[in-house]
Amino acid sequence: MTTQLGLPDDIQACLFDLDGVVTRTAVVHAAAWKETFDAFLRERDGADFRPFTDSDYDRYVDGRPRADGVRSFLASRGIELPEGTPDDPPDARTVNGVGNRKNVLLLAKIRTDGVEPYEGTLRYIDAVRGAGLATAIVSSSANTRDVLHSIDAEGLFDVRIDGVVARERNLPGKPHPDTFLAAARDLGVEPSRAAVFEDALAGMDAGRSGHFGYVVGVDRVGQTDALYAHGADRVVKDLAELGGHA
Ligand SMILES: [Mg+2]
Repeated sequence: MTTQLGLPDDIQACLFDLDGVVTRTAVVHAAAWKETFDAFLRERDGADFRPFTDSDYDRYVDGRPRADGVRSFLASRGIELPEGTPDDPPDARTVNGVGNRKNVLLLAKIRTDGVEPYEGTLRYIDAVRGAGLATAIVSSSANTRDVLHSIDAEGLFDVRIDGVVARERNLPGKPHPDTFLAAARDLGVEPSRAAVFEDALAGMDAGRSGHFGYVVGVDRVGQTDALYAHGADRVVKDLAELGGHA
Protein backbone atom coordinates (compact mmCIF):
# COMPACT_ATOMS: atom_id res chain seq x y z
CA MET A 1 0.00 0.00 0.00
CA THR A 2 1.17 3.51 -0.66
CA THR A 3 0.43 5.38 2.52
CA GLN A 4 0.03 8.52 0.43
CA LEU A 5 -3.00 7.50 -1.62
CA GLY A 6 -4.33 4.40 0.14
CA LEU A 7 -3.88 2.30 -3.01
CA PRO A 8 -1.79 -0.77 -3.84
CA ASP A 9 1.71 0.22 -4.99
CA ASP A 10 1.30 -0.98 -8.57
CA ILE A 11 -1.77 1.13 -9.40
CA GLN A 12 -1.03 3.49 -12.29
CA ALA A 13 -4.45 4.92 -13.09
CA CYS A 14 -7.61 5.96 -11.27
CA LEU A 15 -11.03 5.69 -12.92
CA PHE A 16 -13.68 7.86 -11.28
CA ASP A 17 -17.45 7.69 -11.54
CA LEU A 18 -19.06 11.15 -11.70
CA ASP A 19 -22.43 11.31 -9.93
CA GLY A 20 -22.01 10.59 -6.24
CA VAL A 21 -18.21 10.35 -6.41
CA VAL A 22 -17.05 13.67 -7.91
CA THR A 23 -20.32 15.62 -7.64
CA ARG A 24 -23.28 15.66 -5.26
CA THR A 25 -25.62 14.77 -8.09
CA ALA A 26 -26.55 11.16 -7.20
CA VAL A 27 -29.37 12.49 -4.99
CA VAL A 28 -30.56 14.74 -7.84
CA HIS A 29 -30.69 11.75 -10.18
CA ALA A 30 -32.57 9.72 -7.55
CA ALA A 31 -35.14 12.51 -7.11
CA ALA A 32 -35.65 12.91 -10.88
CA TRP A 33 -36.13 9.15 -11.30
CA LYS A 34 -38.63 9.01 -8.43
CA GLU A 35 -40.69 11.85 -9.85
CA THR A 36 -40.66 10.22 -13.29
CA PHE A 37 -41.54 6.69 -12.20
CA ASP A 38 -44.14 7.70 -9.59
CA ALA A 39 -45.97 9.80 -12.21
CA PHE A 40 -45.79 6.89 -14.66
CA LEU A 41 -47.06 4.34 -12.10
CA ARG A 42 -49.80 6.66 -10.82
CA GLU A 43 -51.04 7.18 -14.35
CA ARG A 44 -51.02 3.44 -14.95
CA ASP A 45 -52.28 2.02 -11.63
CA GLY A 46 -54.25 4.90 -10.15
CA ALA A 47 -54.02 6.33 -6.64
CA ASP A 48 -52.98 3.05 -4.95
CA PHE A 49 -49.83 2.70 -7.09
CA ARG A 50 -46.69 1.28 -5.43
CA PRO A 51 -44.10 4.11 -5.36
CA PHE A 52 -40.49 3.91 -6.55
CA THR A 53 -38.23 3.40 -3.50
CA ASP A 54 -34.60 4.07 -2.53
CA SER A 55 -33.97 0.35 -2.79
CA ASP A 56 -35.40 0.32 -6.34
CA TYR A 57 -32.95 3.11 -7.18
CA ASP A 58 -29.95 1.23 -5.77
CA ARG A 59 -30.89 -2.11 -7.35
CA TYR A 60 -32.22 -1.21 -10.77
CA VAL A 61 -31.21 2.31 -11.77
CA ASP A 62 -28.15 3.81 -10.06
CA GLY A 63 -25.07 3.92 -12.27
CA ARG A 64 -26.74 2.41 -15.33
CA PRO A 65 -27.32 4.10 -18.68
CA ARG A 66 -30.69 5.86 -18.74
CA ALA A 67 -32.56 3.43 -21.00
CA ASP A 68 -31.19 0.41 -19.10
CA GLY A 69 -32.45 1.95 -15.85
CA VAL A 70 -35.95 2.41 -17.28
CA ARG A 71 -36.04 -1.15 -18.62
CA SER A 72 -34.69 -2.85 -15.52
CA PHE A 73 -36.93 -1.02 -13.03
CA LEU A 74 -40.09 -1.50 -15.11
CA ALA A 75 -39.20 -5.18 -15.62
CA SER A 76 -39.04 -5.54 -11.81
CA ARG A 77 -42.71 -4.46 -11.76
CA GLY A 78 -43.61 -6.75 -14.67
CA ILE A 79 -43.96 -3.85 -17.10
CA GLU A 80 -42.53 -3.83 -20.61
CA LEU A 81 -42.63 -0.79 -22.91
CA PRO A 82 -41.72 -0.43 -26.57
CA GLU A 83 -38.23 1.00 -27.02
CA GLY A 84 -39.20 4.03 -29.11
CA THR A 85 -36.37 6.20 -30.38
CA PRO A 86 -33.92 8.56 -28.63
CA ASP A 87 -35.81 11.66 -29.82
CA ASP A 88 -39.16 10.53 -28.37
CA PRO A 89 -40.92 13.37 -26.50
CA PRO A 90 -40.79 13.17 -22.68
CA ASP A 91 -44.47 12.16 -22.49
CA ALA A 92 -44.13 9.16 -24.85
CA ARG A 93 -44.93 5.82 -23.20
CA THR A 94 -41.72 4.22 -24.46
CA VAL A 95 -38.39 3.34 -22.81
CA ASN A 96 -36.79 6.36 -24.48
CA GLY A 97 -39.72 8.65 -23.66
CA VAL A 98 -39.60 7.78 -19.95
CA GLY A 99 -35.81 8.24 -19.96
CA ASN A 100 -36.15 11.62 -21.67
CA ARG A 101 -38.72 12.71 -19.10
CA LYS A 102 -36.25 11.89 -16.34
CA ASN A 103 -33.53 13.85 -18.14
CA VAL A 104 -35.74 16.93 -18.55
CA LEU A 105 -36.48 16.85 -14.79
CA LEU A 106 -32.80 16.27 -13.97
CA LEU A 107 -31.57 19.19 -16.06
CA ALA A 108 -34.23 21.47 -14.56
CA LYS A 109 -33.13 20.51 -11.04
CA ILE A 110 -29.47 21.05 -11.93
CA ARG A 111 -30.28 24.45 -13.48
CA THR A 112 -32.17 25.50 -10.37
CA ASP A 113 -29.84 24.13 -7.70
CA GLY A 114 -26.47 24.05 -9.48
CA VAL A 115 -23.86 21.31 -9.09
CA GLU A 116 -21.64 20.94 -6.06
CA PRO A 117 -18.42 18.93 -6.11
CA TYR A 118 -17.18 16.83 -3.21
CA GLU A 119 -14.12 18.78 -2.09
CA GLY A 120 -12.56 15.62 -0.63
CA THR A 121 -12.68 14.03 -4.08
CA LEU A 122 -11.17 17.06 -5.85
CA ARG A 123 -8.28 17.16 -3.36
CA TYR A 124 -7.74 13.42 -3.78
CA ILE A 125 -7.66 13.73 -7.59
CA ASP A 126 -5.08 16.51 -7.27
CA ALA A 127 -2.95 14.24 -5.09
CA VAL A 128 -3.33 11.32 -7.50
CA ARG A 129 -2.24 13.45 -10.44
CA GLY A 130 0.54 14.97 -8.38
CA ALA A 131 1.82 11.43 -7.73
CA GLY A 132 1.98 10.85 -11.50
CA LEU A 133 -1.04 8.58 -11.87
CA ALA A 134 -3.38 8.91 -14.87
CA THR A 135 -7.06 9.75 -14.36
CA ALA A 136 -10.31 9.12 -16.21
CA ILE A 137 -13.94 10.00 -15.66
CA VAL A 138 -16.24 7.04 -16.40
CA SER A 139 -19.93 7.85 -16.21
CA SER A 140 -23.13 6.55 -17.77
CA SER A 141 -24.39 10.12 -17.85
CA ALA A 142 -24.79 11.81 -21.21
CA ASN A 143 -24.50 15.14 -19.34
CA THR A 144 -20.97 14.51 -18.06
CA ARG A 145 -19.25 17.28 -20.02
CA ASP A 146 -21.71 19.95 -18.92
CA VAL A 147 -21.56 18.84 -15.30
CA LEU A 148 -17.73 18.84 -15.28
CA HIS A 149 -17.69 22.20 -17.02
CA SER A 150 -20.03 23.67 -14.41
CA ILE A 151 -17.56 22.85 -11.62
CA ASP A 152 -14.53 23.71 -13.75
CA ALA A 153 -13.16 20.17 -13.47
CA GLU A 154 -12.72 19.13 -17.11
CA GLY A 155 -8.94 19.44 -16.82
CA LEU A 156 -8.74 16.88 -13.98
CA PHE A 157 -9.18 13.89 -16.27
CA ASP A 158 -6.92 12.57 -19.04
CA VAL A 159 -9.75 10.53 -20.56
CA ARG A 160 -13.55 10.79 -20.56
CA ILE A 161 -15.80 7.79 -21.20
CA ASP A 162 -19.38 8.99 -20.70
CA GLY A 163 -22.84 8.20 -22.02
CA VAL A 164 -22.11 10.01 -25.28
CA VAL A 165 -18.82 8.18 -25.94
CA ALA A 166 -20.36 4.84 -24.93
CA ARG A 167 -23.11 5.31 -27.51
CA GLU A 168 -20.59 6.27 -30.22
CA ARG A 169 -18.43 3.24 -29.50
CA ASN A 170 -21.38 0.93 -28.81
CA LEU A 171 -20.15 0.06 -25.30
CA PRO A 172 -22.62 -1.58 -22.92
CA GLY A 173 -22.93 0.44 -19.70
CA LYS A 174 -22.45 -0.49 -16.04
CA PRO A 175 -22.86 -3.11 -14.55
CA HIS A 176 -20.88 -4.31 -17.60
CA PRO A 177 -17.19 -3.42 -17.24
CA ASP A 178 -16.77 -2.16 -20.83
CA THR A 179 -16.75 1.58 -20.13
CA PHE A 180 -14.10 1.21 -17.41
CA LEU A 181 -12.09 -1.13 -19.64
CA ALA A 182 -12.22 1.43 -22.47
CA ALA A 183 -10.92 4.12 -20.12
CA ALA A 184 -8.00 1.94 -19.00
CA ARG A 185 -7.22 1.10 -22.62
CA ASP A 186 -7.31 4.78 -23.65
CA LEU A 187 -4.91 5.54 -20.80
CA GLY A 188 -2.63 2.68 -21.88
CA VAL A 189 -2.91 0.94 -18.51
CA GLU A 190 -3.77 -2.71 -17.80
CA PRO A 191 -7.04 -3.11 -15.84
CA SER A 192 -5.06 -4.88 -13.09
CA ARG A 193 -3.10 -1.62 -12.66
CA ALA A 194 -6.20 0.58 -12.49
CA ALA A 195 -8.39 1.50 -9.51
CA VAL A 196 -12.15 2.07 -9.81
CA PHE A 197 -13.98 4.64 -7.64
CA GLU A 198 -17.75 4.17 -7.60
CA ASP A 199 -20.81 4.79 -5.41
CA ALA A 200 -23.24 2.49 -7.25
CA LEU A 201 -23.74 -1.24 -6.82
CA ALA A 202 -23.71 -1.54 -10.62
CA GLY A 203 -20.27 0.13 -10.56
CA MET A 204 -18.95 -2.40 -8.03
CA ASP A 205 -20.16 -5.21 -10.30
CA ALA A 206 -18.32 -3.60 -13.23
CA GLY A 207 -15.14 -3.26 -11.17
CA ARG A 208 -15.25 -6.89 -10.14
CA SER A 209 -16.10 -8.41 -13.52
CA GLY A 210 -13.46 -6.23 -15.24
CA HIS A 211 -10.76 -7.61 -12.87
CA PHE A 212 -9.51 -4.17 -11.91
CA GLY A 213 -6.61 -3.90 -9.52
CA TYR A 214 -8.56 -2.16 -6.75
CA VAL A 215 -12.20 -1.16 -6.28
CA VAL A 216 -13.13 1.64 -3.91
CA GLY A 217 -16.79 1.91 -2.92
CA VAL A 218 -17.88 5.40 -1.93
CA ASP A 219 -20.75 5.20 0.53
CA ARG A 220 -22.76 8.41 0.64
CA VAL A 221 -26.06 6.82 1.70
CA GLY A 222 -25.31 4.04 4.21
CA GLN A 223 -24.92 1.01 1.95
CA THR A 224 -21.44 -0.08 3.04
CA ASP A 225 -22.35 -3.77 3.38
CA ALA A 226 -23.97 -3.87 -0.06
CA LEU A 227 -20.90 -2.21 -1.64
CA TYR A 228 -18.64 -4.87 -0.11
CA ALA A 229 -21.06 -7.62 -1.19
CA HIS A 230 -20.85 -6.30 -4.77
CA GLY A 231 -17.06 -6.43 -4.86
CA ALA A 232 -15.51 -3.41 -3.12
CA ASP A 233 -11.97 -3.89 -1.81
CA ARG A 234 -12.48 -0.93 0.47
CA VAL A 235 -15.43 1.31 1.31
CA VAL A 236 -15.02 4.93 2.43
CA LYS A 237 -17.52 7.70 3.13
CA ASP A 238 -15.26 10.27 1.48
CA LEU A 239 -12.09 9.92 -0.60
CA ALA A 240 -10.28 12.10 1.95
CA GLU A 241 -10.16 8.95 4.13
CA LEU A 242 -7.77 7.35 1.63
CA GLY A 243 -5.14 10.02 2.08
CA GLY A 244 -3.66 12.37 -0.45
CA HIS A 245 -3.22 15.13 2.09
CA ALA A 246 -0.42 17.53 1.39
MG1 LIG B 1 -22.59 7.22 -9.30
